[in-house]
Amino acid sequence: MGAQWIHGPSKKNPVFQLASEYGLLDKEAMSEENQQIEAGGHPLLPSVAYSNAGRVLSPELVEGVRNLFSTLLDQTREFVHATQVPVPSVGEYLRREITRQVKEWTDDDQSKRLKLAILNMYFKFECCVSGTHSMDLVALGPFGEYTMLPGLDCTFPSGYGGLPDQMLSSLPEESVMFHKPVKVVRWGGSYQEESHVGRMFPVQVECEDGEKFLADHVIITVPLGFLKEHHETFIDPPLPPRKAEAIRQLGFGTNNKIFLEFEQAFWPPDCQGIEVVWEDESPLAEAGPDLQAEWFRKIIGFVVLQPPERYGNVLCGFLAGKESEYMETLSDAQVLTALTDVIRRLTGNPHLAPPKKVLRSQWHSAPYTRGSYSYVAVGSSGDDIDALAQPLPEDAADPRQLQVLFAGEATHRTFYSTTHGAVLSGWREADRLLSLYDTSKSHQHKPWL
Ligand SMILES: Cc1cc2nc3c(=O)[nH]c(=O)nc-3n(C[C@H](O)[C@H](O)[C@H](O)COP(=O)(O)OP(=O)(O)OC[C@H]3O[C@@H](n4cnc5c(N)ncnc54)[C@H](O)[C@@H]3O)c2cc1C
Repeated sequence: MGAQWIHGPSKKNPVFQLASEYGLLDKEAMSEENQQIEAGGHPLLPSVAYSNAGRVLSPELVEGVRNLFSTLLDQTREFVHATQVPVPSVGEYLRREITRQVKEWTDDDQSKRLKLAILNMYFKFECCVSGTHSMDLVALGPFGEYTMLPGLDCTFPSGYGGLPDQMLSSLPEESVMFHKPVKVVRWGGSYQEESHVGRMFPVQVECEDGEKFLADHVIITVPLGFLKEHHETFIDPPLPPRKAEAIRQLGFGTNNKIFLEFEQAFWPPDCQGIEVVWEDESPLAEAGPDLQAEWFRKIIGFVVLQPPERYGNVLCGFLAGKESEYMETLSDAQVLTALTDVIRRLTGNPHLAPPKKVLRSQWHSAPYTRGSYSYVAVGSSGDDIDALAQPLPEDAADPRQLQVLFAGEATHRTFYSTTHGAVLSGWREADRLLSLYDTSKSHQHKPWL
């Protein structure tokens, strides 16, 4: 339902390191050759582009447009050290450059329209990558701070869950509690545990079921979407203004998956991905389609789950933004009907059998997530990410340091929105805590975490 690929599987990626050590990857993913490929952070799948006119688009045409889009996208990353940006957002920059380029195209009108329609699909693709409704919401200046590691994206043949399972196996049993939502983290206090008379703790964590835990330190890793909704009551006393501002300003949007299982594959056997192009769309058009009536137009395409012997004939579609959030409000049957219609239009086959099963994520409605992952929104910058990552209390002179620490993907300045960013942020906070204690002194109190 969530993470699928290791983005940039190579030596500096901790998820890749751990997965390799645990033997969770196949040989190809582990190969030196694979680790050296500069793929630009996105999975490069051999895809077929279908259009709503029921035809397969020329692979050469699609590749040409894809190259144009990635060249423009690379340009947007060059503003990272600029003192001024020409426009506030990545979307506006891309559209401005496309408007310039179109004037020089010598194609006939129909080909121009088709190229714009393909470009529009890549805008939607980027919305999925950034987890945003529109690239107009993504800040141009900081965009290049997001760092892509080398390596051709790979998956876990037995599922991503193998990684946390292995990591958990090295911890004492019952050190992780599930289905135990925290209601409030109180800090800056003096709490006493009955069994530890005389010892005071600055932090108390109260769960929704009323159970309380005392601690010297707590690391908060809830999603930014949850913090946006609840930070005023979740942390007591409330966060300092700079941190609250960072939470408000950073972006946290929705990217969802829709899995469709078919009795028979309608796609060619070697096809690993299907791109979906709506021929009447353009990134230069003033208004997009009606969200409620045509939410399905935001679907960028489908990944074919591999290998079919393991998964059956399953496609995984992706869609981001408000359309994705609207999709969450529909029933499975409504989603299935809409997508059957889309696929019939793409294939030009009005009798194509509907999928036998649908399964989708609903990350925006999920109360402990409220979206998918973070991005640097217009009006924010990498400094907000660093502000969010700052521990409490802020006052360096306070003798009770590091009471509340913050980790999670949204606190990693260059790898936000990824699993490796999440892992590294956790290690960063673990190191911060370790540096507070002199582990050679055995008489020290063992801190409660
Ligand atoms: C559709 C989708 C596809 C993705 N694909 C990829 C991919 O291919 N590769 C990649 O690297 N990344 C991918 N990601 C991003 C990746 O999943 C995240 O970056 C990563 O999971 C973030 O980890 P985290 O620990 O910061 O947050 P999370 O994984 O969101 O974990 C936060 C946890 O906090 C819990 N929580 C929230 N509130 C409370 C509370 N009050 N009390 C107790 N617990 C609470 C939540 O239930 C959750 O378990 C994808 C994400 C989505 C949604």
